[in-house]
Amino acid sequence: MVGDFMKTIIIGGGASGLACAIKAKNKNNEIIILEKESKCGKKILVTGNGKCNYFNDDFTIDHYNSNNKDILNEVINEDNKKLVLDFFDSIGIIPKIKDNYYYPVTNQAITIREALVNYALKIGVKIITDVNIVDINYNGKYEIITTDNTYTSDNLVLATSLLAMKGNEFGMNIARKFNHSVIEPLPALVQLKGNEKYFKEWAGIRTDVNVSLYINDNYIKNSEGEIQLTDYGISGICIFQLSSLVNKALYDNKKVNIKINFIPWINNNIKEFLSDRNNKLNNPNISDLLDGMINYKLVNLILDLSNISRDKKYNELTNNDINNIINYLTNFDIKIIDSMGFDKAQVCSGGIPLNEININNMSSYKNNNLYIIGELLDVDGECGGYNLGFAWVSGLLAGIDINDKN
Ligand SMILES: Cc1cc2nc3c(=O)[nH]c(=O)nc-3n(C[C@H](O)[C@H](O)[C@H](O)COP(=O)(O)OP(=O)(O)OC[C@H]3O[C@@H](n4cnc5c(N)ncnc54)[C@H](O)[C@@H]3O)c2cc1C
Repeated sequence: MVGDFMKTIIIGGGASGLACAIKAKNKNNEIIILEKESKCGKKILVTGNGKCNYFNDDFTIDHYNSNNKDILNEVINEDNKKLVLDFFDSIGIIPKIKDNYYYPVTNQAITIREALVNYALKIGVKIITDVNIVDINYNGKYEIITTDNTYTSDNLVLATSLLAMKGNEFGMNIARKFNHSVIEPLPALVQLKGNEKYFKEWAGIRTDVNVSLYINDNYIKNSEGEIQLTDYGISGICIFQLSSLVNKALYDNKKVNIKINFIPWINNNIKEFLSDRNNKLNNPNISDLLDGMINYKLVNLILDLSNISRDKKYNELTNNDINNIINYLTNFDIKIIDSMGFDKAQVCSGGIPLNEININNMSSYKNNNLYIIGELLDVDGECGGYNLGFAWVSGLLAGIDINDKN
């Protein structure tokens, strides 16, 4: 195609689609974004609680899940970190970095969205919104049929994401039509559900914990931070970080348990700690001994679950009682039965397998001049800017390849 006027259509004007469009545009090509919403980048506005945590300085593979992690590893590197940071610099974003998390200095997600859309428009990317695509065919060129129009293009980029937060199956279905397989999408970065009567009692508690994920009774992973105890189960970033693995295990009919350590700040022997505290407080009631260590609602719950009356003195407890209390304090075990689903999930796991694309430029091995980017691919990251991080990298790599074509 060198020398010819090449046309590229990007379906989806979200994070990855916008980054791709800007990088792809040059004076010899035509780049068109077809977006179903009335404006591009709507989801960007709700990211990071409206502040948009758009990247993480610790851009390493450990923060990602994929069924082809070895392939993903090829693009999660320092070169692509520089690619993303240079890109944001080039469109005028001034970063504010807090504990490795990147935000725009304005603390407003709209800064990112507007910078992307305005820059794209300024360099000549065409953005067509409110489109309703009915079908896409390929006969040497792509034919994109909408309810109002038919577009043709040399390249097609799928950037429509998956099912999280009222997403849709469009991208998956088009990828399937072009001979791709799809790994079942599942909710990720999402709250987890259990089925315990006591959830009503602990609803509303927020506290710093250490949580461990067990699948079929095997320890898998640990996470730290603030947990939110709710009437359906558990939430909070430390839970989100485990939720992708949890949903995959539940999907495979495996047994999933989360064990909570409510006193992660005690490093030494807990029996000794309790006994020292008992001596210091002159043998108080057990509830007085535990008050001040954990949320008072949890004190009541743990004593109820251990069948120990609140006014019993610590010295009157049996060894078994003390072990029970310690177990609830450090290994509070919840059986997880489900998650809160796609509508509450920030992202999805699953999608188009990475071994069906050339990871260096996101082009499809299945269809000529087809690219797949962003969340539509089988990549999901932890909270902390990792999901947008992959959206930018994949969009930019595809954009570079398209730009290089003429
Ligand atoms: C509440 C929330 C908070 C989040 N916070 C963060 C955060 O702080 N940091 C972080 O890294 N990640 C965060 N994420 C995840 C991040 O937003 C996504 O991973 C990222 O937006 C994915 O980029 P994408 O380009 O693949 O898809 P999207 O950004 O979702 O873009 C897809 C676009 O395609 C359009 N589209 C869909 N179907 C069609 C169709 N048929 N025709 C035309 N257009 C279509 C959509 O309207 C949308 O504009 C958050 C997600 C949510 C829901």
